[in-house]
Amino acid sequence: MRPSVAERFGGTANGATGYGATVTENDTWTHVVHAPGRVNLIGDHTDYTGGLVFPMAIDRGTTIRYTPGTDRVVLTSDADPDPIDFTLPVEAEPGTVTPVWGRYVAAMAAELSSSTGIHGTVSSDIPAGAGLSSSAALECAVGLALGSDGTPTDLALAAQRAEHAATGVPTGIMDQLCIAAATAGHATMIDCHTLDITQVPVPGEVDVVVEFIAHRTLVGSAYADRVAECARAESVIGPLRAATLDDISRARHHLDDIAWRRARHVVTENERVRAFASALDGGDYDRAGRLMDASHASLRSDFETSTPDMDAAVERLSTTAGVFGARMTGGGFGGCVVALCQPGALDSGWVVHAARGAHHR
Ligand code: ADP
Ligand code: MG
Repeated sequence: MRPSVAERFGGTANGATGYGATVTENDTWTHVVHAPGRVNLIGDHTDYTGGLVFPMAIDRGTTIRYTPGTDRVVLTSDADPDPIDFTLPVEAEPGTVTPVWGRYVAAMAAELSSSTGIHGTVSSDIPAGAGLSSSAALECAVGLALGSDGTPTDLALAAQRAEHAATGVPTGIMDQLCIAAATAGHATMIDCHTLDITQVPVPGEVDVVVEFIAHRTLVGSAYADRVAECARAESVIGPLRAATLDDISRARHHLDDIAWRRARHVVTENERVRAFASALDGGDYDRAGRLMDASHASLRSDFETSTPDMDAAVERLSTTAGVFGARMTGGGFGGCVVALCQPGALDSGWVVHAARGAHHR
């Protein structure tokens, strides 16, 4: 039998509130917001050069039950024993707030210049720090709870700025825009330069399966190095989002090997996203799967964001009967792998379904 999310990921099952003295289980909340996590099907480390990504919001997410009012933000979370409690407007640097999860909340409040606070509880069944974007789900849910009333793109941009302020890591727009803008039953193909979104139906005749490999943090990881290496490549090649393989070949002797390989990943990955969208649309799952395999190989060899455990999982999954393809997903250096397969082909991991974006319930 497939393990439950709580068994598989530990400590993040729904409904377990009750930490801290300021918010109790007996409180009755007047409002509920929910933001999904996301799994990236293909297109990793392309967003911060304005390239293409293909994430899917999933039927696991973060829910905040709360009551608005007063000038304080008082929240507990089932993912952290320490509650947060601060006064609006936010005066502290968000990156210095404790406990650490309060940084995302304070940064979002600062971004929105919120003056009306919330009291409530956060519950989530997304494993935190596993590449399924619990951070962007938290930011987007907090944004709605604090009264953000712009477009999904406005919410996503505020959440991305909040993530930068909270963590200091220069992450791209993929997570927040997918989580803010997704529609049920669809993956969210995003042009990260124009922020144009194409909602692509995810066929019911395939399973998307996520397998957790290891917790990781992007703070202090090589993520920021990758951003800098891509910038170095762009200083020679020009915008990678518009570059071709010919441009990459021509740059071979004008760039150091690392920046050149990073650029080759980005340019080939953008092509794979386009090809994947049309393969999925045309029902060519073998081709879609081969593109996922190729994406993993590129992330492993050219972009160096995989790990031996992720490589082993991808190898095992992609050679299992009924699996079309598999790859690491998200920022890397740990996290999860994702597979596309025939329904029921895998009894490990977690079948996820395409869910709608952040919303009031
Ligand atoms: P990912 O977004 O892939 O899950 P990150 O490292 O970007 O990983 O974000 C994880 C961090 O986000 C956690 O360490 C925690 O600080 C915060 N976080 C996310 N979800 C929650 C939650 N439900 N409750 C408290 N903190 C959360
Ligand atoms: Mg994150």
